[in-house]
Amino acid sequence: MQERYSRQILFPPVGEKGQHALADSHVLIVGAGALGTASAEGLVRSGVGTLTIVDRDYVEYSNLQRQQLYTENDAKSHVPKAIAAKRRLEEINRDVHIHALIEDADADLLRPLFEQADLVLDATDNFETRMVMNDLSLHTNTPWVYGACVSSQGMYMTILPNETPCLSCVLTTMPVGGLTCDTAGIISPAVQMVSAYQQTEALKYLTENREQIERKFVNFDIWQSTFFKMDISHIKRQDCPTCGTKRTYPYLNDQRKKTTVLCGRDTVQIMSKDLANLSFQLIKERLSSICEVDINDFLIHVRFENYRIVIFKGGRALIHGTNDGKVANSLLARLLGL
Ligand SMILES: [Zn+2]
Repeated sequence: MQERYSRQILFPPVGEKGQHALADSHVLIVGAGALGTASAEGLVRSGVGTLTIVDRDYVEYSNLQRQQLYTENDAKSHVPKAIAAKRRLEEINRDVHIHALIEDADADLLRPLFEQADLVLDATDNFETRMVMNDLSLHTNTPWVYGACVSSQGMYMTILPNETPCLSCVLTTMPVGGLTCDTAGIISPAVQMVSAYQQTEALKYLTENREQIERKFVNFDIWQSTFFKMDISHIKRQDCPTCGTKRTYPYLNDQRKKTTVLCGRDTVQIMSKDLANLSFQLIKERLSSICEVDINDFLIHVRFENYRIVIFKGGRALIHGTNDGKVANSLLARLLGL
């Protein structure tokens, strides 16, 4: 095996055999923000064979403090994160096949990616996407490593389908989340620590050291140097809709509106089947009776009260001027009767 991996091969749990297994493996990373760039760099350096990375955003200056693959030039040119990450990762290790997707990570997009991947790392910033990932993990029998960080705190948990509890089982027992990077801030070492654990879990899984995988829910505060492990073996629920005996995979069959607050943008994105079912002409007619409408081949743009609303063909809308999903949804309801 090449000299570049010699120190990793010397580590007995990896060895030559593990290094070959890594080269044959395919990891999906959902999100190319702080966690995603840290984990992508680590796995590419370690010699994983194929990496797929999905992100819908572009690079901004506020990302540079902790999103380690990006440069000032990327921010200046608004380069999509997936593309900027791929460019940098290929400079680091050209033997790794990198697939970069500039997309919203919804169930339809992620399903085939889960089917192709050996393992998935969570590098998202929201629970809606995580719940979709959780359903897909059980549905496609693909393990994933949940990870989150905010302020100086971080947590992670490895989900092995049909073996460990799933994220849904855990969330009904303990409150997770609430704080976001936009309200509570974040320091880079908290990111590095979550990513280090996620990468380590990936290495264990991919080099066939599966008995070494962490089965507890891990929580830490790097500023306080505190670290907790919580036993979750008893919380796997028979009636869990994702991993129980009667599975409905609620986040894969969700016909409701899908609402996303876009981090730090004062904007809410709504993806809605009801909206997709309305013809563009009908939307135009309804809106024209209330306010002034700008329309082109791709979108309808209106100003209403203190908001700007952009409705794309295909059922996606951006509501500028609010960070509140309820406000955005009720606005769309008032305008279009959805
Ligand atoms: Zn479950």
